[in-house]
Amino acid sequence: MNLDQIQPICIAGEWRLGQGDLYATHYPATGAAVTRLHAASLDDVEQAIVGAQRAFETSGWAQRKPHERAAVLYRIAQLIRERSEELAQLQRLDNGKPIKETRNLVASAAGTFQFFAAACETLEESITPSRGDYLTMSVYEPMGVVAAITPWNSPIASEAQKMAPALAAGNAVVVKPAEITPLAALALARICDEAGLPRGLVSILPGKGSLIGDALTRHPLVKRVSFTGGTRTGKHIARIAADKMMPVSMELGGKSPTIVLEDADLDHAVAGVLYGIFSSSGESCIAGSRLFVARPLYDAFMARLVEGAKGIRIGDPADEATQMGPLISAAHRESVERYVDMGLSEGGRLLTGGERPQGAAFEQGYFYTPTIIVGLGNDARLCQEEVFGPVLVALPFDDEAALVRQANDSLYALAAGIWTRDFQKAWRLGRAIQAGTVWINTYKQFSISTPFGGWRDSGLGREKGRLGILQYMEQKALYWGL
Ligand code: NAD
Repeated sequence: MNLDQIQPICIAGEWRLGQGDLYATHYPATGAAVTRLHAASLDDVEQAIVGAQRAFETSGWAQRKPHERAAVLYRIAQLIRERSEELAQLQRLDNGKPIKETRNLVASAAGTFQFFAAACETLEESITPSRGDYLTMSVYEPMGVVAAITPWNSPIASEAQKMAPALAAGNAVVVKPAEITPLAALALARICDEAGLPRGLVSILPGKGSLIGDALTRHPLVKRVSFTGGTRTGKHIARIAADKMMPVSMELGGKSPTIVLEDADLDHAVAGVLYGIFSSSGESCIAGSRLFVARPLYDAFMARLVEGAKGIRIGDPADEATQMGPLISAAHRESVERYVDMGLSEGGRLLTGGERPQGAAFEQGYFYTPTIIVGLGNDARLCQEEVFGPVLVALPFDDEAALVRQANDSLYALAAGIWTRDFQKAWRLGRAIQAGTVWINTYKQFSISTPFGGWRDSGLGREKGRLGILQYMEQKALYWGL
């Protein structure tokens, strides 16, 4: 990808300039422009969807045997791996994550295409027991054109998680990446072309969500929206979907509790809690942003945690040693700062952070220090609202019943972490905590074969897992008279 040129976008298999406004993307570590592109226009949306429907009907992709579709998806996985360093650097420029993290995201994208290639080969059609003079069979059909709307925080992985199962199922997919991080999605579409995916099945439409995402969602030819992003946007999309009677899947926000019991392995727990909140600068839906520590351990644990937070290496995302990069934008950093101010005005006390790091290296980028706040109740806004930044709120707890009540007292229910050596307590708490994912003595660990999603305001449906492909298919019953 030549970043000096105005980037073409991918509309129904054709690479051309978008017809919307010209804008630049910026590297969050320096604020410098990375590339320029024209956003998609409403006319581009129409062309992408109509072209996707045509490709779905005429390319023969949906009719190809599963192992033939799988071969193309395996090739996509292979090309991602061959270009992994280039893609990781592109992703770093897109959203400023440290290179070590973006390499993992690229590896995850390759693994996702590989996994769903296999999943489409193993999709089972089931015959129900004979009831006498007929038998029935359940089969799965692709839906047609599906839309994938993704956020800026983990671009290539988010897009792969939607594109791979949608394509494996035989559909065409129109992707609306976040306006500010379009590069990884565009690179992925180039790879799809090169791997031999029929043209037109993939479109990439960067642009404003309220215009392009909204038009995609409302379009009658779009048969499903798979959305990852904020809860407010998710609810807006779900309302439109209700009118169309269109299925949606929603991966939304979180305010995930991490819990440290008295018997936890402390080295392990300190490292895990720090990683859970401060990796990706806390710009992660699963960030462990509410910490509950058993009271007898609280003072000692917090002292170690603060020492650990102060030792996190903030800096240039291109540096292999960097542990935390900048936030995505100046506006987002200001939003994080407002949350910290609000927490302090609610009665919170700063143990560390709460400021921009000093020094020439930090002047241009949107850096912020790892921040820990104590002294708030679980009902404080800072404990209830998603900050989406490197801000941890810590609370002591006295007994298990109160802990479970508080941990579950949230509109969100995406993830949780438990640190303990006692497997019976881990089991009991793991079952009692309401969340789509509970990590025990680990955090932010992912397996593509394990379903992922949230409860309540954290989402609807599950991505990943062998059955993740079924989201993109309609089930049909065939009856056979005997
Ligand atoms: P966002 O909701 O503002 O945007 C997400 C996507 O939706 C973007 O592509 C945006 O352009 C589009 N969009 C915005 N308004 C739209 C509309 N009216 N109609 C259709 N599309 C629209 O979220 P964000 O700020 O980009 O991302 C951060 C949020 O994403 C956080 O809340 C985070 O928790 C969540 N997230 C969730 C997961 C998960 O798997 N649960 C993963 C990553 C991020």
